[in-house]
Amino acid sequence: MRILVTGGAGFIGSHLIDRLLSAGNEVICLDNFFTGHKRNVLQWLDHPYFELIRHDVTEPIRLEVDQIYHLACPASPVHYQYNPVKTIKTNVMGTLNMLGLAKRVKARFLLASTSEVYGDPEVHPQREDYWGNVNPIGIRSCYDEGKRVAETLTFDYHRQNNVDVRVARIFNTYGPRMQENDGRVVSNFVVQALQNLPLTIYGDGSQTRSFCYVSDLVDGLMRLMNGQHTGPVNLGNPDEYTILELAEAIQNMVNPGAPIQLNPLPEDDPRRRKPDITRAQTWLGWQPTVPLQEGLRQTLEDFRSRIGIHAESEVQVPVAITGEHH
Ligand code: NAD
Ligand code: UDP
Repeated sequence: MRILVTGGAGFIGSHLIDRLLSAGNEVICLDNFFTGHKRNVLQWLDHPYFELIRHDVTEPIRLEVDQIYHLACPASPVHYQYNPVKTIKTNVMGTLNMLGLAKRVKARFLLASTSEVYGDPEVHPQREDYWGNVNPIGIRSCYDEGKRVAETLTFDYHRQNNVDVRVARIFNTYGPRMQENDGRVVSNFVVQALQNLPLTIYGDGSQTRSFCYVSDLVDGLMRLMNGQHTGPVNLGNPDEYTILELAEAIQNMVNPGAPIQLNPLPEDDPRRRKPDITRAQTWLGWQPTVPLQEGLRQTLEDFRSRIGIHAESEVQVPVAITGEHH
């Protein structure tokens, strides 16, 4: 099959491309390199079945493909809040363009949506039939409302134009190749612990997240794409941790002496998040297999080697953009 991966030079996209090419598919990676990087797909650049196109999904493009994994969108709050209007454009116009392409060439289309569509959830754990609790005018809205519109567009193209679609609601995912300055919690804590810097907990650390290792997530995405169910389907690891527990786990693994520093909680930061994965289990026969300790170990190994390489240039860990600055 010829498969298009938008956002393929990013964290999840590049792991997905590894799997698709290893399985013998032809892959076109489309990326504007905002948060992605060529080095993530470097190993495939000379491969005869791989093509890399620098392109912004907010502009239309014509390609002949059988499947489209639509992942293009910055995922870390620090990056999607850098240019919020661009984030909305990417989610709305980008998704519109890719759905238009899917319609024209009759490709199957998978949207990488997010647990953020549940906002600050009043239902716990979150099931796919929960409509969410989202602030339409907050600093996270460019991303979570953007993804909600992307889901709406996907289902409208399905109902109106018969486009064959899949919607994955991805929960917090981590692993090798996250950018050192990505700004998300796992990469921040890992970089800080390795550099003997204080681990920056936002708020009191009692908020929860559920962390899925990237190989599990990619497996879920491929099962959803190649299965019979449209979705939406939650893909995430149901093991729930407070942010303080995560900090302590990373301290213990890297640097038990690393201090913890409490910073202000960003505006609209969800208090808790945990997927109900009954649908993924029954529809796709999928559930995560990599426990946090093992996933963190692999992530640490990757960061250790990268931070070692850039030892001279100190890695800057970005701070969250809080409401106070706006
Ligand atoms: P990432 O930032 O590493 O990757 C996003 C990729 O999209 C990057 O390569 C970036 O350069 C590219 N991109 C951004 N805007 C673009 C545009 N306008 N045109 C073309 N390319 C563009 O993030 P990720 O963690 O790999 O996330 C991939 C997808 O999964 C995103 O859609 C994200 O919303 C979704 N998701 C991720 C998580 C997570 O925890 N990682 C959770 C929920 C949803
Ligand atoms: N967080 C933190 N310290 C950091 C980065 C993030 O305490 O250095 C917190 C953040 O406030 C949130 C959680 O960790 O409560 C997860 O943040 P992340 O940006 O990884 O993902 P999201 O909020 O989108 O789930």
